[in-house]
Amino acid sequence: MIPDIESVDIAHLASGDILAIQVYKFRGATPGKKAYLQANLHGAELSGNAVIYQLIQFLCDLDASQLLGEIWLVPTCNPLATNQRSHHYASGRYNPYTGIDWNRIFWDYEKDSQSPDQMSLADMAQALIEQDSKQIEETFCKTLIHRFQEQAKQEHTASGIPFEEQYCYRLQSLCLDANYVLDLHSSTNQSIDYLYCFQGREQSAKYFLLNTAILLDTYDGDAFDEAFLKPWLSLEAELAKLGKSLQFDRESWTLELGSGMQINPDSVYRGVRGIKNYLVSKEMLKLNRFPLIQTASKTVQFFPKSKSKKYYAKQGGMLQSRVLLGAWVTSGQLLYQLLVFNREGRLPELVDVPTEESGLVYDLSSNASVNQGEYILEILTHPQ
Ligand SMILES: [Zn+2]
Repeated sequence: MIPDIESVDIAHLASGDILAIQVYKFRGATPGKKAYLQANLHGAELSGNAVIYQLIQFLCDLDASQLLGEIWLVPTCNPLATNQRSHHYASGRYNPYTGIDWNRIFWDYEKDSQSPDQMSLADMAQALIEQDSKQIEETFCKTLIHRFQEQAKQEHTASGIPFEEQYCYRLQSLCLDANYVLDLHSSTNQSIDYLYCFQGREQSAKYFLLNTAILLDTYDGDAFDEAFLKPWLSLEAELAKLGKSLQFDRESWTLELGSGMQINPDSVYRGVRGIKNYLVSKEMLKLNRFPLIQTASKTVQFFPKSKSKKYYAKQGGMLQSRVLLGAWVTSGQLLYQLLVFNREGRLPELVDVPTEESGLVYDLSSNASVNQGEYILEILTHPQ
């Protein structure tokens, strides 16, 4: 298959240069569902670019008869963040101009529908209740896209809009009609491979063949995956209140593939394998030996997002003897030592910090030097 390659301008810079992103669109012989994948929304999170590169190579070698529907892929989807540096370090998690997290800027139709001039999702569910699932899905998707396009028109007013809004309109316009959205991230620091899963979509999580998932029991809709799926989940909930129980064929996932500022081959391998396995399981790709044999018996350990525990430095110092990434720690166990210096004429000291609650150590700060209140590690607790 040969993809259509489309360039989308996202910013005209003071220097006269234009920043653009590039979309690779693979279309199968048979029309069908749409999957949208992007990588590197946060500037230091690189592994997803290598995953998308391998998927592009892989799809180029497939016959169009093996793809049902279309797959759109966008590597380096946030060039401003990808190119951002502080000394040798990539610091592209926040827009340096506004301080806003690049993954907290997206348009959430559910929030929009609460404005007085809009029909609420509760009223919409009432209006759609007599239709069948397919009709509801089509009508809702059209309504949502229509509203999005109305909002995006503000860009063309004389007063303009902030860059984050322009950027969010560009990126979201590529995926609003998708069935599946996959946003490929890594940790800013050091992390295991895991994914974020929405409540009600747990059954599909195993297709990615990762061991660990964070269950989004709390979220506000501003992240890319949330902005896509939240309106659909809310409509499902409103219809359920009226006695109509259904699940739309819409899912979104954030895959967290290893550590920041690195491309770890194991994380890339797991990302590519999981995404192929997912797309075959969703009947978009036809591949020999897929779904992989281990899919049926795969168990994913889910941890509620609300129960994850960040540890911050209680005093300044240098970290040493910290537990390893991926370790299961039990309450009271030594988590790390802090080498603490002073300016009060005393000898330096080592301070032991114990684990408060048992769990999985899934993310570690890259910097072993911490000021008081700075991040050290995060533990997932309450496995389900
Ligand atoms: Zn990220």
